[in-house]
Amino acid sequence: MSDLVIGVLALQGDVREHLAALAECDVIGRPVRRPEEIAGIDALVIPGGESTTMSKLAVAFDVYEPIRERLAQGMPAYGSCAGMIMLADEVLDGRPDQKTFGGIGMTVRRNAFGRQVDSFEAPVVIDGLDGDPVHAIFIRAPWVESVGPDVEVLGRVESGPATGRMVAVRQGNLLATSFHPELTGDLRVHRLFVDMVRARVS
Ligand code: GLN
Repeated sequence: MSDLVIGVLALQGDVREHLAALAECDVIGRPVRRPEEIAGIDALVIPGGESTTMSKLAVAFDVYEPIRERLAQGMPAYGSCAGMIMLADEVLDGRPDQKTFGGIGMTVRRNAFGRQVDSFEAPVVIDGLDGDPVHAIFIRAPWVESVGPDVEVLGRVESGPATGRMVAVRQGNLLATSFHPELTGDLRVHRLFVDMVRARVS
């Protein structure tokens, strides 16, 4: 077990699944929800859930500013689904009062895949991951509508009606996926993040 401590933002969403995935990657995962807990982590995972609720709770629990500050200082973070929305600089189809931590120069569209393909599974090839495409689970997921010059697009939907949509991105120490690797038992995305944390770009 390495001594890296990776916080999982535990305001709402699938916190337990991310903690389990981190444990399997041999790092200490720690649920965080109070401002004083933010200083003690090396990196942060922002889970799937509901970004509008997460945004409200982040403000109510006084962690919104401390997290923004740590991200601005270069703390690595990984967001899945609602967590991806929380890392986006801009959100389409959000609520007017919805806030994000930001950090990734991208515009995401909430609930983008529409009613017919609300929740679906599709193969996604992720740059930098060996082996088969990731079997990606999308649940009322956002897609990445556009990216700025500093964003690396790591993966797109490979088949079905949403073919070609950008669903995995990285900017510096920040990683985000529209889908939920924490629900599949495939640890490759979490391992990629843990490697990023170890190799942290300062
Ligand atoms: N639709 C949710 C949102 O807007 C995200 C769904 C998810 O995280 N599975 O935050």
